Amino acid sequence: MRNPTCPKCESTSIIKSGIVNDRQRFKCKKCAYNFTVSKLGKEIDPYFVIKALQLYLEGISYREIERILGVSHVSVMNWVKKYKIKPPERYDYHPTYKILSHAELSELMASPGYLKGSGMLITELGDKFMVIKWDRFKD
Ligand SMILES: [Zn+2]
Repeated sequence: MRNPTCPKCESTSIIKSGIVNDRQRFKCKKCAYNFTVSKLGKEIDPYFVIKALQLYLEGISYREIERILGVSHVSVMNWVKKYKIKPPERYDYHPTYKILSHAELSELMASPGYLKGSGMLITELGDKFMVIKWDRFKD
C-alpha cells in the first residue's frame, strides 16, 4: 500500500491520528492538516462497485468477486446491502467465467458456435477481459 499524501500540501510526511467513522485519520506533519482516506488508502472507484454488483447478480460468490476485482468481500456485502440488490429467487442457471487476453477473446468471438445459444457479458479487467457466459439456452 502506498503512503497517503497530504491533500493540501502534497507532503508525504503523514502520521496516523486515530480512527473517525471507520476510517483512518491522518495528520500532515508539514502543514498540520487532518484528513481521512478509506482503509484501502484510496476511495473505491464507483466502477468497481457497479462491476461487483453485476458479478453478484450473475451468481458469483463474494469470495470470487474479491479474487476477480481485488475489492474486499466485506465491501461487496456492504454494497449489496446498501443498494438492496436481490437476485431472483428461482435461479437455476449459474454462469461460468473466463479471464482472457484480447487475442484469446478475439479468437473466441470469431467462432459463431461460441456465441450461439448463450447469454454473455464482457467486462474489461485491467489489460484482460472477463467473459461471463450462461449456457441456459442450450438444451
Ligand atoms: Zn500538508
